[in-house]
Amino acid sequence: MANFFDTGIEFIKGVGPQKASLLEKELNIRTFGDLLTHYPFRYEDRTRFYSIKDLNESLPYVQIKGTLKALYTLGGGKRKRLVGYIVDESGEIELVWFKGINWVTKKLKIGLEYVVFGKPTLFAKKLNIAHPEIEVLTETSSKISYLQPVYPTTEKLKSKFLDSKAISKIQITLLKAALPKMGESLPSGLLNHYGLMPKKKALRHIHFPSNQNMLSKALYRLKFEELFFIQMKLLMMKVSRMEKFKGHAFNSAELVTEFYEKHLPFELTRAQKRVVKEAYRDMRSGHQMNRLLQGDVGSGKTIVAFLCMLLAINGGTQTALMAPTEILANQHYKGLRTFAKKMNLRIALLTGATNTKDRKVIHQYLANGDLHILVGTHALLEDVVQFKNLGLAVIDEQHRFGVAQRSRLWEKNAVLIPHVLVMTATPIPRTLAMALYGDLDISVIDELPAGRKPIITRHQYDSNRLELFGFIRKQIGEGRQVYIVYPLIEESEKSDLKDLMDGYESVRRAFPEFQVSILYGKMKSDAKDFEMSRFQKGETQIMVATTVIEVGVDIPNASVMIIENAERFGLAQLHQLRGRVGRGADQSYCILMTRYELGQDARTRIDTMVRTNDGFEIADVDLQLRGPGDLLGTQQSGLLDLTVADLSKDGKILQVAREAAIAILKKDPELKSGENEYLNQKLKSISETFVNWSRVS
Ligand code: ADP
Ligand code: MG
Repeated sequence: MANFFDTGIEFIKGVGPQKASLLEKELNIRTFGDLLTHYPFRYEDRTRFYSIKDLNESLPYVQIKGTLKALYTLGGGKRKRLVGYIVDESGEIELVWFKGINWVTKKLKIGLEYVVFGKPTLFAKKLNIAHPEIEVLTETSSKISYLQPVYPTTEKLKSKFLDSKAISKIQITLLKAALPKMGESLPSGLLNHYGLMPKKKALRHIHFPSNQNMLSKALYRLKFEELFFIQMKLLMMKVSRMEKFKGHAFNSAELVTEFYEKHLPFELTRAQKRVVKEAYRDMRSGHQMNRLLQGDVGSGKTIVAFLCMLLAINGGTQTALMAPTEILANQHYKGLRTFAKKMNLRIALLTGATNTKDRKVIHQYLANGDLHILVGTHALLEDVVQFKNLGLAVIDEQHRFGVAQRSRLWEKNAVLIPHVLVMTATPIPRTLAMALYGDLDISVIDELPAGRKPIITRHQYDSNRLELFGFIRKQIGEGRQVYIVYPLIEESEKSDLKDLMDGYESVRRAFPEFQVSILYGKMKSDAKDFEMSRFQKGETQIMVATTVIEVGVDIPNASVMIIENAERFGLAQLHQLRGRVGRGADQSYCILMTRYELGQDARTRIDTMVRTNDGFEIADVDLQLRGPGDLLGTQQSGLLDLTVADLSKDGKILQVAREAAIAILKKDPELKSGENEYLNQKLKSISETFVNWSRVS
């Protein structure tokens, strides 16, 4: 028998093929299951009647009851409106209609008692309710008490009489038929332990809550379920991967010891030591490592990556590091080469820019195993690039590569899948990391190398430009270099480019005694390289640039970052830009320039930057401001296609759901027990692409 919940909605009484096809087109609702998970996005409070004297404009929708005292039209033509007055024991309030005047006039009768529902607003210092819902007071309407669901709909649907009210009627019909057929989707032990509302009840109350408390419980249950299934799936993937993929077991560490004893350029921070230990434990275990390494800009991820590489090379394998951009690949190559040289290891760089001759040599050395470390861009993924035996793949800036690309590196090894270390300098809030990378183990470098002076961040208004120029002059006088960054956003590129050029000119005029570089995306790449190297060598003192310098530029002597129109940057970007300074021994500064008037979000962003250097704290604020989808860009948004849960708000529920999933898998890793049978089936039916988790079925 076909699944009841897969039945097309045209079979619901009162829907039919036409409305069904509209609902599918507009809201992607096709089946009973789809419609049942089309949840209200808010509720109107019909649980109480307000006294008219208690009304004020800050109230949302309110319900009152009273007698219609007067009803007449005012004005003419476009300004024509219908005005009515409702009175109760406490006072009176005006109702007003601008449309449907004839119809309303016919419907209403002076002297009758009505239930009125609407939003009180202040107009010309008088409170009124425009276009209220109004019904004659009856035995039933005076007693009803409920939260009325408001469903997402569209203009098109409304014009075909599928407004929120109509959808709610359809839901009533559907729920009646569906609830008896609905099973419980969570094990009863879980329901009891976490005090979760049963599925049927939750579904009824999310659509038609009898009060706020029931609504909260229903929401909690459904969010829990959604997050729980994702966690189960991720954790099970992890378990099965560990069983399926044996990993290289790297048990000798002579190279590591040699490096530690002879060449370690600095004492590792405690965090670095901990993280190396975590990675080594994986790499020795015989299971394949899949670890996410999070660490703020400058926290010292490169040496951690190198130490992992050393262990792998010691085990007779090769290693690779893949970076998302050429600049970044270059940077990594230079960083690693210093260490590699000391250990007499062979290292090469492979990017789109590598010429054919060099490529050939690289391919050859790779194939015969003589090349120990290969650094590059996604050029590494090409089929011609074949390792003799890849033991460790380090991937920088994870979320610019998809999960699929990540696994393409694995496929390069026929026998043993290499260990994978994913590094990111974009701190991801814990909740998100858990949701997205629940199948990875997570290591965090949460400490900067000692002796780093925290960057001082200031917010200044454009009107203080003279003062700013004075500051720049002083810093350069002390031998420092300065970045001045302008926003450059593609859609408005022309005017932005003009801002950049104007800025460049005014800086040149203001500082005739200094050399000024300029750098932006559209420049020819040799011109870019030329300007970059002039700045790097200290031949120019000021670098006027767009966000192209966001990643990969490492110039310790540059200690001042000035960000123009800082209100136009997102938090993550501001934080990345600020990370370009503070790399040397000198006190560094980040100056955020804005106009005087700032929107609320912009102000929060700026204040956050001034308050803290902690990338994780910043990421949390960013998550609150933007929500998870935006934060990660579109590549990952499939993962975040949540129906009820919201990762920016439901971190606590996620935590509990994850703990619950871990506990269940610990007791019954293969979900063989009777209690988990349904769960097992359900999880198998959920596709690995994570779409539509909470679909009712
Ligand atoms: P990340 O890649 O995490 O941004 P890097 O690995 O490039 O950071 O390190 C930033 C700078 O700090 C480099 O110049 C590096 O040599 C230095 N560094 C890293 N770890 C330490 C440490 N434990 N002590 C002192 N300096 C360190
Ligand atoms: Mg780095």
